[in-house]
Amino acid sequence: NQDKLMMMQFVVYAREQRLLITRDLTQIDKLETTRRDFVANVSHELRTPLTVLAGFVETISEAPAGALTEEQTQHYFGLMREQAKRMQSIVSDLLTLSNLETSPEAEQVTVNVTEMLNGLRQQVEALSAGRHQFEWDIESGLNLLGAPSELTSAFANLLTNAVRYTPDKGTIYVKWMSESDGARFSVQDTGIGIAAEHIPRLSERFYRVDRSRSRAAGGTGLGLAITKHIAMRHDAELQIQSRLQQGSTFSLVFAQSRLTRAT
Ligand code: ADP
Repeated sequence: NQDKLMMMQFVVYAREQRLLITRDLTQIDKLETTRRDFVANVSHELRTPLTVLAGFVETISEAPAGALTEEQTQHYFGLMREQAKRMQSIVSDLLTLSNLETSPEAEQVTVNVTEMLNGLRQQVEALSAGRHQFEWDIESGLNLLGAPSELTSAFANLLTNAVRYTPDKGTIYVKWMSESDGARFSVQDTGIGIAAEHIPRLSERFYRVDRSRSRAAGGTGLGLAITKHIAMRHDAELQIQSRLQQGSTFSLVFAQSRLTRAT
């Protein structure tokens, strides 16, 4: 009987182990698929500007002497510069993402949010170049504990997107306010909006609702993936509300533990 019991116990143990191993393998399969998709995406994203760039290099280098005017040559160089810049942005965003993934956690210094937003305000209003109206509502003395450069990029990404995806004459409302159990940074726009089915996927790498619009506006499709990562590293949540043709609100909601007040 003792032997039989041992045998049964062994069978149960073996079965559990098999379940565990199967579960691990499924996990590895999933990771492998994600990795493969990612490599395919990166290659695809870089291939387009590279092909265009190579095409122009060929046009210029193979044109017979004197066939291109100085103006035409400069025009081609301008287009080539644009493609090179595009590749630089993609690679730089990919490096940012990879750094966020590999460094264990965000440093914790006190970030003066009012000062940070004043700096961003100038950059964002310059980017809009008078095409949009802005309303800023900033609670002063409400500061954050975290990594200044990461928080600046997260806030900047949401602001830049509002400018990118809001047609001329639209309004952009920026708020930084305490709430009952934390604080909220929100950017509301009166832009093109997003259909409900896209919202859950927006922070996936390279996910865009309209690829050509994003590209034309200088987007890499990585901004919200970066923003979401930074939010996670700061115990914050990225919330998205949007209605097609009406506008969107992107918020970063921070926990009380991340807040400090200037005295
Ligand atoms: P991108 O570089 O393409 O802007 P993001 O990761 O920042 O990449 O955003 C992903 C996609 O989410 C964008 O391509 C766009 O389709 C959509 N999106 C982001 N912000 C807004 C916004 N304020 N209004 C409408 N669509 C937006």
